[in-house]
Amino acid sequence: MSSTSPQKHVVVIGGGILGASTAFHLTSGGAKVTLVTAGTLANGASSRSIAWLNSSGARSAEYHYLRLLAIDRYRTWSAHHPESRGYIRFNGAMKWAAPGKTFRDTYAAERSRGYESLWVERANVAAIAPDVNAEAVAEEGAIFNPGEGWVNMPDFIPALVAEAVAKGAEVIENAGDVRVNVQDGASVGVILGNGTQVSADEVVLATGGDVPAQLAALGVTVLDRTPAAFVLITDPVDAEVKTVLNTPRVAVRPTPDGRLVLDSDWAEQTVVIEDDGSFSVPQESVQGLLDEASKVLAGNPRLTAHHVGAGLKPIPGDGLPVVGPIPQIPGLYTIFSHSGATLGLILGELLAEEILTGTPSPVLKSFRPDRFGSTDGAPEAVGTGAWEPVKQ
Ligand SMILES: Cc1cc2nc3c(=O)[nH]c(=O)nc-3n(C[C@H](O)[C@H](O)[C@H](O)COP(=O)(O)OP(=O)(O)OC[C@H]3O[C@@H](n4cnc5c(N)ncnc54)[C@H](O)[C@@H]3O)c2cc1C
Repeated sequence: MSSTSPQKHVVVIGGGILGASTAFHLTSGGAKVTLVTAGTLANGASSRSIAWLNSSGARSAEYHYLRLLAIDRYRTWSAHHPESRGYIRFNGAMKWAAPGKTFRDTYAAERSRGYESLWVERANVAAIAPDVNAEAVAEEGAIFNPGEGWVNMPDFIPALVAEAVAKGAEVIENAGDVRVNVQDGASVGVILGNGTQVSADEVVLATGGDVPAQLAALGVTVLDRTPAAFVLITDPVDAEVKTVLNTPRVAVRPTPDGRLVLDSDWAEQTVVIEDDGSFSVPQESVQGLLDEASKVLAGNPRLTAHHVGAGLKPIPGDGLPVVGPIPQIPGLYTIFSHSGATLGLILGELLAEEILTGTPSPVLKSFRPDRFGSTDGAPEAVGTGAWEPVKQ
């Protein structure tokens, strides 16, 4: 990406994957960038994510295309950054249907759009994914997607930001509750938690699950279905796990240091939001996830909990990314998405290019903030069909 325009100063609010990626790409494209974030880098949803890199299941053509670009960017990053290969891995993922359901349609949908998808009979599970307990797989079999993988964002985000800093970006951590400074209807910069004003030509709001409320405070509606969620990180496991697993009762992926990250929809629903706004997770959910994960792994390894990471899981109202300028407030942009691990590199790149060149990306056409219109209705259709609620 290159720009011939004079150097812009852009403030990016939010040190998760979407803010870090936008800051990195803006800096690479020649902008002066200040990344400000409430606490430390990667302290939000990006630190507690399964972070499965995928375009699994049924998607609209536009969304599938975006996700394929997204995965491709990780492959390129990995090819050019050998040191990242410990925390960006493409060892494939396996999924199977719950009792009474079938994944045959999902398999057909994936094959029909050219996505790499293999049907694996139970008898062949050990050959394809020796880390999986074949007996736990659905009777009909499973889908294996050899091109899928995972990223460990607590490793990746600091690396991305370090590259941005090496190219001149400034990072302000522990900035508290940062607000967009709107004067005469336009964004002129940000106000840090301690009241310090930082002026900017452009501001990017990348505060994860806080985006809808921050925009609402500025009179802008972005429909939101952000739930509370959690992941469980295990102690190091005495088993070699490489495959990302999405099973009816648990999702599993390895970490660079030999642990597992676990989550599941049923467990997510047990998170309690306390009166003081903190999140707590019942012990039964922790033990339940450990038990379910042990069942789906070859040899049923004994698993113990290291820690739980609970908090918001950013999800726009229609499940699709929300990226681009806020038309009501010149100078303000947002980037807010589910599947932000998968989409992190590409969305940051496309948004940065729009900011630097002023040219809207056709790839983002279906994912604009203004699709939500007024507050009193459902979101407008964006050419995608129903949102796929299955997984990340
Ligand atoms: C349990 C779980 C499982 C997931 N699984 C997957 C998956 O398998 N695949 C996938 O692709 N995606 C997955 N996701 C989604 C993905 O992790 C998120 O979409 C992504 O991490 C969001 O990144 P973000 O930068 O938007 O937000 P965050 O990582 O939350 O970062 C936002 C940052 O903004 C800061 N901030 C917030 N408010 C303010 C403020 N007022 N002032 C200053 N700073 C502020 C926060 O401190 C935080 O650092 C999962 C998410 C969860 C929670």
